[in-house]
Amino acid sequence: MTDAAAPRAIVTDIEGTTSSIAFVHEVLFPYSRARLADYVAAHPAAVAEILAAVRAEAGSGDLDTAGCVAKLLEWHDADRKIGPLKDLQGLIWAEGFAEGVLKGHVYADAAAGLRRWHHQGIRLYVYSSGSVGAQKLLFGHSDFGDLTPLFSGHFDTAVGGKKEAASYAAIARAIDTAPGDILFLSDVAAELAAARAAGLDVMLLAREGMAHDGTFPAVDSFDAILPQGVAA
Ligand SMILES: [Mg+2]
Repeated sequence: MTDAAAPRAIVTDIEGTTSSIAFVHEVLFPYSRARLADYVAAHPAAVAEILAAVRAEAGSGDLDTAGCVAKLLEWHDADRKIGPLKDLQGLIWAEGFAEGVLKGHVYADAAAGLRRWHHQGIRLYVYSSGSVGAQKLLFGHSDFGDLTPLFSGHFDTAVGGKKEAASYAAIARAIDTAPGDILFLSDVAAELAAARAAGLDVMLLAREGMAHDGTFPAVDSFDAILPQGVAA
């Protein structure tokens, strides 16, 4: 932070910011794809509504279970953000986290930073394109234990798109905090531009040697953001 005053609230992105982008694409998505057909077969009651939504989405009410699974796999491979697919992925991931097969990836400096800021009295929020449910699973079963008690709230794209200034204005209103008292952390410049347009302070996470052009203040780890000794 070049700003002398500490923010009252920090809103953080997940992928590329608290956690590796690879975790979602190389761990979570392959896991739900591999488990999808078996999960549907093993939990007929739990997935009944999801399969009904698949039939509605596909426009064919007579799709049998195998047909629904084929549709879901097709959407999964295309990375479609469709309600019934997201719901089913959430159920599969929840089972994996509960069984301890999945652990949410969080960088060590991110876990330490979140704990440090929480200790400094700064309210912490998540804003991610992953659903609020998926956010809580990741942080609730992280490599560093249950981090969910550190957060005061979670936002997903129900509040609006991450590259739209209105979303950040809505978050500021929702957490009852002036935009200028909020620091937003992300690895995506277009998200920082939208947050800045709404009046938030912003910081680019340029992890693992990521190139950046200096448009936004940048750090390569949470260690450099409000380090120990800076009064909140
Ligand atoms: Mg990101």
